[in-house]
Amino acid sequence: MPDVAAFHRFLIVGAGPTGSLLALGLAQQGYQVLLCDQLSRAELAARSRAYALTHSSRRLLERLHVWDQLKTSLAPFESLRLDDRVLGLTAWFRHRDLRLGNRGFEAIGWILDHKPLMTALLSELEINTLVDLRYGIDERSFFQFHKHADWVVAADGARSTLRRSRAIPFWSHTYEQGCLTAKVSLEGTEQRCAYELFRSEGPMAVLPLGGTRYQVVWSAPFQHCQERSSLQADQLLQQLAAVLPKGVRPTALLDHPGAFPLELSLAPQLNRSNLLLVGESGHRCHPVGGQGLNLCWRDVSDLLDLTQSRGVSGSLPSHLGRLYTWRRLPDLISVLLSTDLLIRLFSNRQPLILPIRILIMKLLANLRWVRRISLSAMTDGPGNLFSRLPKCGQTIAHHGDQQRSTTSAKSSSAQFSSAENGT
Ligand SMILES: Cc1cc2nc3c(=O)[nH]c(=O)nc-3n(C[C@H](O)[C@H](O)[C@H](O)COP(=O)(O)OP(=O)(O)OC[C@H]3O[C@@H](n4cnc5c(N)ncnc54)[C@H](O)[C@@H]3O)c2cc1C
Repeated sequence: MPDVAAFHRFLIVGAGPTGSLLALGLAQQGYQVLLCDQLSRAELAARSRAYALTHSSRRLLERLHVWDQLKTSLAPFESLRLDDRVLGLTAWFRHRDLRLGNRGFEAIGWILDHKPLMTALLSELEINTLVDLRYGIDERSFFQFHKHADWVVAADGARSTLRRSRAIPFWSHTYEQGCLTAKVSLEGTEQRCAYELFRSEGPMAVLPLGGTRYQVVWSAPFQHCQERSSLQADQLLQQLAAVLPKGVRPTALLDHPGAFPLELSLAPQLNRSNLLLVGESGHRCHPVGGQGLNLCWRDVSDLLDLTQSRGVSGSLPSHLGRLYTWRRLPDLISVLLSTDLLIRLFSNRQPLILPIRILIMKLLANLRWVRRISLSAMTDGPGNLFSRLPKCGQTIAHHGDQQRSTTSAKSSSAQFSSAENGT
């Protein structure tokens, strides 16, 4: 079969974690990709943030052959402690609460810093001959590439210019809560344990980065986050000490804290004509449960499933965008609604709601099947609760075949640039 994939050209705007991973996946399937970002390479890798990765993200990274490369930068956690700080109740999720298909791995999740992730992805992209990667491209410049692309992907984040330029409907609700992120050194923590602390002002995640280093994602009314972000280091650590579990003590602030507004948003249609919204350009949720990036990467995974199963002639269906929207909406809606419900239930002291919280915490603490379902919803996505998980290595072998086709398509790699020059 001729490698027609090489003649499908994707323009991806935004080389953040979502755009970069999608570019890599498409190139491995043999497509030509032009990936551009307004930032320089150094700026793209510079964000001080750590991501909590779930098993769905692990599967995608394995499928794209970058998991092994990132292994030394991953901080695995084997337990997750859930505290309702108002009620004083605790539930533990442990490795044995994972579904069987995930238990072959040492962790229930991993924390990965933005810098090694972006450095690895950009390095892979730079050596892939099917990817034309351009840094420092502003929106005026990338509009000139549009007419040469068969598909345009908006991976340009929550404030997506592309989404707005096509007037795609977008529902958005700004939370009163914002969040403060900071890297700190902690003493007295459980080894390889992540914490989610439900407090009346908002949830706080404490994510292990390895050794005594932790990332704190502290949700609270946005104004409080802003005030806290401008405190002196010792004052911030003092406030943090007051809200951490007993025995856990912050000893140093390791970066400059940032305060961010939070929102719940969704584009009910993730496509218009040849434009596809991928990642935060199409949706955004509260960081409770660390779902954000994992949800973006499930967009990537589902889109790659669709682009992989092209027709006998090798062409992609003209209704690819609609297929993508239908496939993504159930997962997106269920994660957005469940994170929103968690915030509404747990970020208050309302006496009428407390019995429901007591019930949830007791069920989680005492019934393994409840923990297993909850953990699977968090780590595989609610849509995969009842589907069989691929066996370890299954996707890797499959995509190894695809990668070989990349080599045969190398000769056409210069086509995007020549089209762009009108030659
Ligand atoms: C405080 C906080 C904590 C978080 N913690 C977690 C966590 O623990 N786990 C988790 O999974 N997720 C977390 N998230 C969410 C996570 O950061 C996002 O889901 C992720 O960054 C989305 O990736 P993206 O590539 O879609 O968008 P972005 O990372 O926003 O990337 C968009 C890219 O597009 C580029 N761009 C924008 N406009 C243009 C333009 N006009 N032209 C060219 N380029 C453009 C930008 O420069 C950028 O590089 C957190 C988010 C916040 C705010």
